[in-house]
Amino acid sequence: MNYPDNSYENSGKTRTFSEIQARIDTGDAVVLTAEEITARVRAGEEVAFEDVDVVTTATRGIMSGTYAVFSFKVSEPDSFVRASEVYLNGIPAVVGPCPNERLGVLDLIVLGTAHSKTDPRYGGGHLFRDLVEGKTITVDVKPAGDSSGAPSGIPSFSIETALYEMPFARLYATRHAFKNYKAFVNPGKEPLNTIFHALPFEGEFKEMTFCGCGALNPLENDPELKSIGIGTRVLINGAEGFVTGPGTRSSAKNPNLAGFADLHDMNPDYMGGFVTSGGPEIINTWAVPVPILNPEMLKTILRQDREIPLQLVDLAGRLPLCEITYGDVWDGADLKVRYKPEACLECENCEVDGICPMGAITKTSEGKTRHNPGLCFNCGLCVSRCPGGAFKAELGAVRCTAGGCMREIKVTLRQSDRARAVKAAKELKEKVLSGEFRLKEPVEKIGFD
Ligand code: SF4
Ligand code: SF4
Repeated sequence: MNYPDNSYENSGKTRTFSEIQARIDTGDAVVLTAEEITARVRAGEEVAFEDVDVVTTATRGIMSGTYAVFSFKVSEPDSFVRASEVYLNGIPAVVGPCPNERLGVLDLIVLGTAHSKTDPRYGGGHLFRDLVEGKTITVDVKPAGDSSGAPSGIPSFSIETALYEMPFARLYATRHAFKNYKAFVNPGKEPLNTIFHALPFEGEFKEMTFCGCGALNPLENDPELKSIGIGTRVLINGAEGFVTGPGTRSSAKNPNLAGFADLHDMNPDYMGGFVTSGGPEIINTWAVPVPILNPEMLKTILRQDREIPLQLVDLAGRLPLCEITYGDVWDGADLKVRYKPEACLECENCEVDGICPMGAITKTSEGKTRHNPGLCFNCGLCVSRCPGGAFKAELGAVRCTAGGCMREIKVTLRQSDRARAVKAAKELKEKVLSGEFRLKEPVEKIGFD
């Protein structure tokens, strides 16, 4: 199919994917990250259709709709016929759908939101990151009995393995890269456990959490999916992958994407587990090139955070409370959280080392607090919980009328890591310009009923 189609109403100026790729190949194309292009507009610059060919966009956040498929050897052929239960580092796997066990090979599906049977702070997201980091994992296998229910007579066994020993390891997205994320408050009196907070969510409008990278988000830059479709090449956690279609519950108003990429090629910095008060969740990062096919697309791309709505909802019933914008939560906010060891009070019981959703805060044997910036998600939870103010970041506050009066509600947790999204968009830009990443025209548009 040809992009753009003729239904676009614009000034008559259009470009095709191949024309843009040809300009990239000759070094004539201008490729900017979504952050760079919006910064130019903020600085008062006029950006015209002729000034830019491709914008690289990205988002990093909690994306529950994730699973992985693995296939690897666990025993010699004919050692057992079926496996009834398999655990990877304590995470339950679905065995199958192909029955390869007689060959000594397991085909497994592991959900990104699956939880360890032994460690409440370990989930599928942690497992996938550990594998990509090259760590060895333990696989526990329980052979199944026959169809009459009699036991197999073959004892359960365990093996150690690692990603390089798995010929097949792919991550699949069933619902990623949402366009429409939300911000949450708890108007009730009692704290609530939820996947939208790392601790019980305090009531009476005392705090706010939110998701979404605003103007950097791929589907905020191409909300009508004019350039993104089935077959679009993207980076998922730094690995080349493809869009396979709309994700679950995707609609014209609230689109999201499905896709896949190979775990062997991923960068662990972009992924991982995030422990919420509702259990461990999974983090992923998408970077998507948006070729600017016509001036209409550019208009959307030039929007600032303050022009992108964000709905503040009641955590319990998801009832809308008020409309804010991504400008309210990102303008003036620090993207990175910094640790100032000199401010640490060396409290007997550190308030933050056990609550960090990433496990990025630890105590040394000498009682000193350590912050691992490579693991840190920049969520900001430690900022309001550390009595010494050793963790620093401006997270901002939102003013809105909710519950019958005007309130100022402080952001205490961000479930999107914009600092890493900026990095991912930059990395994609460099790969596009160097020719390492080639634009891929979709084979089919994503339509909605
Ligand atoms: S809570 Fe803050 S000040 Fe106290 S030990 Fe932990 S990091 Fe240091
Ligand atoms: S911002 Fe603080 S609480 Fe959040 S991941 Fe980083 S160290 Fe942990």
